[in-house]
Amino acid sequence: AKHSLLAVRCVRNISSKNTNRIPSTYVTNTELRPSNLQTFPTHELFTKIGFISHPRSGLVNWLPLGLRISRKITAIINNRMEQIGAEELSLSQLSKSDLWQITGRWDNSELFKLKDSSDSEYCLVPTCEEEITQLVKEQLKSYKSLPLIYYQIKEKFRDEKRPRSGLLRGREFIMKDAYSFDLSETDAMSTYEKMIGAYKNIFTDLRLPYKQAEADTGDIGGTLSHEWHYVHESGEDTLFECSSCGNVSNVEKTLSFPQEPDEKAEVSVSYFKTTDNSTLVCAYYPSNRTLEPSFMKEDIPDIDLGDRNEAAILEEFSDEETLISKRVVRIMDARLTSRSNFPDFPIPFVNRSLITTLTDVPIVVAQEGEICSKCEDGELRTSKAIEVGHTFYLGDKYSEPLKLLVDSPDSSGKMKSTNVMMGCYGIGISRIVAAIGELTRDENGFRWPVAIAPWQVTILEAQSSIQNVEKLYDQLNGNNIEYKLDDRPKVGIGKKIFHSNLVGIPLVVVIGKNFPMVEIEVRGLRYKDNVDLQWRKDFQTKSF
Ligand code: ATP
Ligand code: MG
Ligand code: MG
Ligand code: MG
Repeated sequence: AKHSLLAVRCVRNISSKNTNRIPSTYVTNTELRPSNLQTFPTHELFTKIGFISHPRSGLVNWLPLGLRISRKITAIINNRMEQIGAEELSLSQLSKSDLWQITGRWDNSELFKLKDSSDSEYCLVPTCEEEITQLVKEQLKSYKSLPLIYYQIKEKFRDEKRPRSGLLRGREFIMKDAYSFDLSETDAMSTYEKMIGAYKNIFTDLRLPYKQAEADTGDIGGTLSHEWHYVHESGEDTLFECSSCGNVSNVEKTLSFPQEPDEKAEVSVSYFKTTDNSTLVCAYYPSNRTLEPSFMKEDIPDIDLGDRNEAAILEEFSDEETLISKRVVRIMDARLTSRSNFPDFPIPFVNRSLITTLTDVPIVVAQEGEICSKCEDGELRTSKAIEVGHTFYLGDKYSEPLKLLVDSPDSSGKMKSTNVMMGCYGIGISRIVAAIGELTRDENGFRWPVAIAPWQVTILEAQSSIQNVEKLYDQLNGNNIEYKLDDRPKVGIGKKIFHSNLVGIPLVVVIGKNFPMVEIEVRGLRYKDNVDLQWRKDFQTKSF
């Protein structure tokens, strides 16, 4: 009996030690030190620490550490989607070209296209409005089944021309995409409101301040489009916030607010070239604004901003063919790009058919300090932000061309066929991981909110004792706290603490000879203490 008890203890010990051991890819890079941490941009730290790796630019391998963070975010989203009655499904990652031809999106330059052996064309899905509309068209038998909200959390693919900063702008990324289907516009609006509620809850669960910005609905009209942002100077988007009414809007929306009537007409064109002559940048912007060249420095290194002699530049790019074969970056006032009625003004040497594929590099045209045109009282403050989500009321944008109709009784009781009213709602999980990393980073590394940290407690043994570790395990298990034991041989306690803080684990517990007194170090608060586990019956992670 004594022997078998011992055997049980050993087996238990081995299994718990293994399943609770830190991942094999945990901080594999040995060059990271407290002194050099600040020198690495966030996306480099991500790979050096072992959250992810990039097999090719814009592609991602999720390693155990990063995958745990992404799964936590997924769990939060699943929970909030379930609460509003959204149903999870999983659509194919390949989509045939025919539906995209109908909606006019097949020519989008961001599509990853491929052909099968019989030459049929497909794309890897960048988003799934076409496919889901088709699916609901096949499945929907009665208006009584409406409203419907479907969502999935899967990889999306976009041939981003400038993949950037790892997960922030990948060519492959994880997105939650949801789609709603309603009988009427009024119903669709209330579904949209419900979804907004879920988004607020998701961002509250993630514990970081966010902005819900009014976004432009472009050709579709209506007012229901919002972008969800984290404010950060590394962001590619610009938000405008009114000091009085508090309204937040993105560039396009800000510019679409009522303006002086003649303001649209005057457009200036500026040309810049890169010093290696490979790129001509044409910027179009309202004449009464100034072009803000700072954005170009990052996107187009070596730009010779000093050379503004238009005639000289144009001579070098004098025939249209050269221009097209070289890289032409067109930057436009967002007000113009978001409008289908591109103003008819002469654009020398630029192939007009290319104008529809303008890059969406934002140019700051509205300015800090301008009067808010919504309340006409406060001043606009600008901030750089990272778009992490987008909610959009679609109306019949997809149901009309793809003929998703439903029969329902009108006011007199007669059956009538109408387009189903849709909405689409995205959240970038990959981008959230990158953005929260960026936002929470400090001189010691990352600081994940408890809810999404890879795990909550790192256990270290200053003096190894199976019984003590097991007692602590029991206590943590009993409180549903996730933990990992860092028992790497030949790595000192100091380094292990540094690594746990670097990875961003909320709490380190060091077990020593004074057990049940243990040393704890709280990551977020940089708080150290000795705690007696015996009387800490209510050991909770909630408080940090
Ligand atoms: P962006 O303006 O940054 O190109 P988008 O407006 O094209 O993004 P949406 O089509 O609105 O993106 O997609 C919904 C969400 O998917 C975005 O809010 C963002 O969080 C995420 N997302 C889009 N493109 C990427 C990408 N290339 N890499 C990572 N996440 C992305
Ligand atoms: Mg995009
Ligand atoms: Mg965007
Ligand atoms: Mg968007």
